[in-house]
Amino acid sequence: MGNFTTVVCDLDGVLYRGPEPVAGAGAALDEIASAGIRLLFATNNSTRTAAEVAAVIESRTRYPASPADVVTSAMATAHHLAGATKGVYVIGGRGLPPTLASAGIPIVESWRDADCVVVGLDPNLTYEKLADATLAVRAGARLVATNDDATFPTPQGLVPGAGALVAALERATNRRAEVCGKPHEPMRRLLRELAGQGSVLVVGDRVETDIALGLAEGWATVVTLTGVSTPEEAERVGADHVVASIADLPLILGISG
Ligand SMILES: [Mg+2]
Repeated sequence: MGNFTTVVCDLDGVLYRGPEPVAGAGAALDEIASAGIRLLFATNNSTRTAAEVAAVIESRTRYPASPADVVTSAMATAHHLAGATKGVYVIGGRGLPPTLASAGIPIVESWRDADCVVVGLDPNLTYEKLADATLAVRAGARLVATNDDATFPTPQGLVPGAGALVAALERATNRRAEVCGKPHEPMRRLLRELAGQGSVLVVGDRVETDIALGLAEGWATVVTLTGVSTPEEAERVGADHVVASIADLPLILGISG
């Protein structure tokens, strides 16, 4: 494979696992960037701002990622809603409100003022917030999810992700959420706009998000085995390549020294 202009790279399970870097990740990113290939870092985590995500990448891999190269599901949500809402009631973590606000999305404190409810992972979720969001949607507000990941990993095991909170609201409102993160259209549209012309390769560890996104766009796909998906799952969905880790990516790209 060769002549890629953009690599869309997942984070957890590809560059690092929790706080631990994947061996060789930083060197691989350096090599890809030095070959003139644009790196975009795409994450379904909506709880951090782009600047915070870039800082995490640099602290764990030592690759100097720029906030301009980061795409979060919160940013995809802001892009999806731009100009289309008078007021959003937000359930979400610390990074979600500033990401929406900096894109010009008006945020309201009372569900009564909302024509849209945005739901992301919220570690401080309360029953009252779920009740207010339900009342807003039942009164006609749109239900929009940053992402629909059912769980996410912690050192103790899997815990509820944004998708589990979205499911509670879908059940309570009898409505289906518009979902913005990988592999859904709002995230794909934002990545298409950032990638521009030229060919794109997606690298990720989860077939149902990262690889599904690449397949939906007709982009080349690479599964790394440092995260959740297995070689069998990668083969079943038709990923182009399976590699032990991102350290093998420069070889796949035909740029290895
Ligand atoms: Mg991942």
